[in-house]
Amino acid sequence: MSGKKARRYIELENKYTAHGYHPIPVVLNRAKGVWAWDVDGKKYLDCLSAYSAVNQGHRHPKIMKAMRDQAAKLTLTSRAFHNDRLGEFMKKLCTVTKMGMALPMNTGAEAVETAIKIARKWGYEKKGIAQNKAEIIVCSENFHGRTTTIVGFSTDPDANRNFGPFSPGFAIIPYNDPDALRRAINQNTVGFLVEPIQGEAGVKIPSDGYLRQVRDICSEHGILLILDEVQTGFCRTGKMFACMHEGVKPDMLVVGKALGGGIYPVSAALGSQDIMSVITPGTHGSTFGGNPLACAIGTASLDVLIQERLDKRAEKMGNLFRKRLHEIATDKVLEIRGKGLLNAIELKKSAGTAREHAEKLMKLGVLAKDTHGQTIRFAPPLVISADETEWLVERIQMVL
Ligand code: PMP
Repeated sequence: MSGKKARRYIELENKYTAHGYHPIPVVLNRAKGVWAWDVDGKKYLDCLSAYSAVNQGHRHPKIMKAMRDQAAKLTLTSRAFHNDRLGEFMKKLCTVTKMGMALPMNTGAEAVETAIKIARKWGYEKKGIAQNKAEIIVCSENFHGRTTTIVGFSTDPDANRNFGPFSPGFAIIPYNDPDALRRAINQNTVGFLVEPIQGEAGVKIPSDGYLRQVRDICSEHGILLILDEVQTGFCRTGKMFACMHEGVKPDMLVVGKALGGGIYPVSAALGSQDIMSVITPGTHGSTFGGNPLACAIGTASLDVLIQERLDKRAEKMGNLFRKRLHEIATDKVLEIRGKGLLNAIELKKSAGTAREHAEKLMKLGVLAKDTHGQTIRFAPPLVISADETEWLVERIQMVL
């Protein structure tokens, strides 16, 4: 159970903060690397990494230094003026993603919205689709954020019930079904928006070759493949981007979370120069998007991923973690799945809920979050060591 101090913070939060989340009852006030401490001084291994926003580890010294140095000089200009950090950051991001141009935003949902707007505008201006007819195909069980447009095409009733009316122009097909994509395309289709692995749905991994197939279908029909790598990007799955497992290059890429190194919200929508050129002055923007502080943090966050080869580390530690999980799995476990350090254990219904198990793990010093009833996600910062992975597996074994 959480201590007296923690209970006071939780009561305060519950009284004055809308209840959009059901947090694990732990109150954190410090973190470093893969570890976090609660207000009573208890230490935990962070196995959520703020939904994969802390890939580089909490308060990475290089990113912290970049933040401090930039904060001492210039933090916000708005894009009404140029700043000396944006160009360099966008060049680095375009190099890492192999894209032509980027549009910087702040949160993942904003970057998804940006991609939707650009894809539609591209459809009208470059493809000649009739006004207000553009359609984007998405998948069931998707998670792309919480704005009204995005929840409008969510299939999760918790996400969209009583938030309508919603924006038209989205067609929903099953995930991991290339034929469904082929059937859903019509003369008004501008793009297919999809997650390479459905993170929030419970780490749902499509069949091998799925991305390759949808890439080919999009190319055949002249529609944009728009990959949302907000959660899977930046080394989380063992490659810089999850699409690289299949050698797939999307037409548009949406990134966020770990681009801000767990310190600051930094996101972007990217595409070729041809696609991105539909954005002209006055057609899209954000007061904070591309601000110098975000750019300094984003640049350092990319540098750390590359210099520390966090793709290789995620692959290696992920393989070790899943190998050990298979060794300790009991009959409570329905499935162990994952790629790199984006992993999940799905429990049998008879084993009790994932929430109960997550709370038991918390008592043992592991912070993991339940999702969709029976699934617990394990996505520690990518700087985790083999010894720490073993320590984690021992705790999981205790609750299984
Ligand atoms: N896309 C995906 C794939 C995500 O996992 C998330 C967040 N879980 C988002 C978009 C939204 O990001 P944000 O919460 O920063 O708006």
